[in-house]
Amino acid sequence: MAYQINDECISCGACEAECPVSCISAGDDKYVIDAEQCIECGACAGVCPVGAPNPAE
Ligand code: SF4
Ligand code: SF4
Repeated sequence: MAYQINDECISCGACEAECPVSCISAGDDKYVIDAEQCIECGACAGVCPVGAPNPAE
């Protein structure tokens, strides 16, 4: 179960550099996580100013 970035994302880019497997990239209106690559480490959630990355339901 990968992490997902919700609509609270303000596209600040902080999480992209923190991901150990580089699976976060800029999308059209928010950043997106490649679920196939995510190892659920939670680093993105730790640096996000708005709490947008969360474990998928
Ligand atoms: Fe990357 Fe870890 Fe966030 Fe998954 S949980 S997107 S591996 S930083
Ligand atoms: Fe979006 Fe949070 Fe990542 Fe910034 S750190 S790009 S607000 S998910």
